[in-house]
Amino acid sequence: MEFTPEHELFRKSLRGLLEREFEPHLDEWEAAEAMPLHDIFRTLAGAGALGLEYDPAYAGQGADHSYSVILGEELGRLDAAFSMAVSVQTDMSTPSLHRFGTHALKERYLAPAMRGEMVTSIAVTEPDAGSDVAALRTRAVQDGDEWVINGTKLYITNGTQADWVCLLARTSDEGGYRGMTQILVPTDVPGFRVSRKLNKLGNRASDTAELSFEDMRVPVANTIGEIGRGFQQQMAQFQNERMIACYTAVGAMGRAIERTVEYVRQREVFGKPLLDHQYLQFRLAELTAELDLLRHYNYACAEAYLRGDDTSRFATIAKLKAGRLQREIADWCLQFHGGIGYMEETWTAGFFRDSRLLSIGGGADEVMLRTLARLEGFGTA
Ligand SMILES: Cc1cc2nc3c(=O)[nH]c(=O)nc-3n(C[C@H](O)[C@H](O)[C@H](O)COP(=O)(O)OP(=O)(O)OC[C@H]3O[C@@H](n4cnc5c(N)ncnc54)[C@H](O)[C@@H]3O)c2cc1C
Repeated sequence: MEFTPEHELFRKSLRGLLEREFEPHLDEWEAAEAMPLHDIFRTLAGAGALGLEYDPAYAGQGADHSYSVILGEELGRLDAAFSMAVSVQTDMSTPSLHRFGTHALKERYLAPAMRGEMVTSIAVTEPDAGSDVAALRTRAVQDGDEWVINGTKLYITNGTQADWVCLLARTSDEGGYRGMTQILVPTDVPGFRVSRKLNKLGNRASDTAELSFEDMRVPVANTIGEIGRGFQQQMAQFQNERMIACYTAVGAMGRAIERTVEYVRQREVFGKPLLDHQYLQFRLAELTAELDLLRHYNYACAEAYLRGDDTSRFATIAKLKAGRLQREIADWCLQFHGGIGYMEETWTAGFFRDSRLLSIGGGADEVMLRTLARLEGFGTA
């Protein structure tokens, strides 16, 4: 992956913006368990940080995927709640709309989202269908030129503030992977309800909701792409989700190691700085090596994506590795801080809690293993 001076300029100005505009508020948002997403997205859009790869006709920046790698790495340096909220908007709830949506739908919903005027969510998971997406039950039935939607979606990020959600619903009785459709669902329509705001272990500033749909009527014109191809379209959208999650994870882990090195350099134990104990040097060197491998694996994945190749295998392996490595790094960073690392006043405590999510959200580690085993042709199950 070659980063040009333009890339480095983008990285520098983005880092400056994130540190200036948002970092000072992270603790306050964590305590409030909420972030003002409309304000945040407007500021990011004003700096040209939303819709990096999207068509300028819909308020995109017309750049290529290499800029999304930088966006992810820089977002990751802040905190997980913040990076997740932003990447849901940029890489999880909108890729299908950009790829498959009609001009009218993109003008009405994608452009405002990329201008930071609308907040968006991706709604796939249900109480009885998480890892097994094909088991989902939310149903949309066609009545004239409207879909009538009934069902429940669970753990929906940005869900309490969303202006529209990219919903995956069952639209025929075919069952399994067939008969699902992606529908753009505005949240100001009767029948939509935020039924619960959920209380979480980590990522506390990010709002996570249960959403209910009761005889909600949405125009059939809000269909994203092809009726009956929703599962396949969502699987493609999941690749974008996993890639950005891995880019942000690298940013987060890199910053965590930097902060830990700063601490152990000045903390004295047994008459010398902690960092002068060889065990710490070696452990930190090992973690740095693992992180470097993931960073460069991400770059190989991004290059494949830029060539237009299928990145399922890359994204699956990167997501598995990122989830496990982030748990390991969070644990060691806390360990090397000792008691103060266990205190909520130190960043390590929140980072430890936040870091548990990546092995579950966006497809659990075991789902990555299942996908990889299938790709490799191991077994028949
Ligand atoms: C904070 C947070 C935010 C989220 N945001 C969103 C969002 O915005 N939109 C959205 O649609 N979803 C979202 N999710 C949902 C997330 O993607 C699911 O939680 C995840 O896919 C796992 O599904 P599940 O929770 O139903 O677990 P289950 O499917 O019940 O699985 C439980 C566990 O079983 C294991 N397992 C699963 N399958 C297998 C297998 N084949 N073999 C062996 N073991 C297996 C795994 O360890 C897994 O963790 C979010 C979740 C969280 C926690």
